[in-house]
Amino acid sequence: MPVPGELTFVAPRGAKPPRHLADLSPADRREAVVELGEKPFRANQLARHYFGRLSADPAEWTDIPAASRGKLAEALLPDLMSVVRHVSCDDDTTRKTLWKLFDGTLVESVLMRYPDRVTMCISSQAGCGMNCPFCATGQAGLTRNLSTAEIVEQIAAGMRALQSGEIPGGPARLSNVVFMGMGEPLANYNRVLAAIRRLTDPAPDGLGLSQRGITVSTVGLVPAMNRLADEGLSVRLALSLHAPDDELRDTLVPVNTRWKVAEVLDAAWNYAERSNRRVSVEYALIKDINDQAWRADLLGRKLRNRRVHVNLIPLNPTPGSKWTASRPEDEREFVRRLEAHGVPVTVRDTRGQEIDGACGQLAAAG
Ligand code: SAH
Repeated sequence: MPVPGELTFVAPRGAKPPRHLADLSPADRREAVVELGEKPFRANQLARHYFGRLSADPAEWTDIPAASRGKLAEALLPDLMSVVRHVSCDDDTTRKTLWKLFDGTLVESVLMRYPDRVTMCISSQAGCGMNCPFCATGQAGLTRNLSTAEIVEQIAAGMRALQSGEIPGGPARLSNVVFMGMGEPLANYNRVLAAIRRLTDPAPDGLGLSQRGITVSTVGLVPAMNRLADEGLSVRLALSLHAPDDELRDTLVPVNTRWKVAEVLDAAWNYAERSNRRVSVEYALIKDINDQAWRADLLGRKLRNRRVHVNLIPLNPTPGSKWTASRPEDEREFVRRLEAHGVPVTVRDTRGQEIDGACGQLAAAG
């Protein structure tokens, strides 16, 4: 039986997240403020508070008349998400947050503090429709796209936590953002692109992060990759390849049945050229599935002399999975063969594994 007072509001399916300042371009913000009967410059003041100072608390906006603050906050800075819980490890320098959105949907983000940088891994969709069999998020299917502001708020919240010293090591700045949480960012193209603008526009129009510190990871949606290349950004593209041959990739990354290895690699090289940045090829090493020496050689031949860096990710087995990470000797041999082809390669660290916060484990299990 539901207990009165404990009922939480759950929006009807299909309802849109409330409009938020971070959804709007600077021009749209001015328009929205004027529609509320306020002077256009209030939009700039609001942006200074939200993007510049990370303040969403009207009590702190002393340059705005008290009578206007409540109205502006209600209309443009609604609460989009609440923390269900934080889970930490690595002496609290890795922290996963489970968020509940306005309609009860759950998504996760992860903050990782290293000695020389701080990275946040964020979600672009609730769930994912790409159905990769080794990925926890893929198992549950797609619930919905996140709004631009729901994406930006994950970052703003992380920046607030860093600024306030909540994360051990003293106040710090966020340096990197990776779209490697839940969802396929290029399947939510417009909102993700707008989020990148909000994250990277210089303060106070945006959060002032460097485009070069942002990585968009994709299964390989070729038209969207080419479109992203046309935007003229310097964000990094990561391509989740996981197999160098179509036969295996059709299974590991089912969208490969639509866009083949040769096509996704062409789109990746186009992106590298346009953005003037190396593409990162992601390859989860799965024992006896994709870690054979001949596949390393095939991958090496396809990537040699290209603007690329390979990131090998030891598979994080999802619950009930029949697959596990490669044997250490097979991983070493895979690295050696790629290097023999002159392909730069690193093995990704698996931070957050024990809190189910590592790559591909974000499943918002509750
Ligand atoms: N949909 C995007 C971004 C989210 S996943 C994409 O697929 O690129 C981020 C990375 O984690 C991808 O390279 C993905 O293939 C990888 N990944 C997913 N599940 C994993 C797992 N169980 N172990 C290791 N890597 C995994």
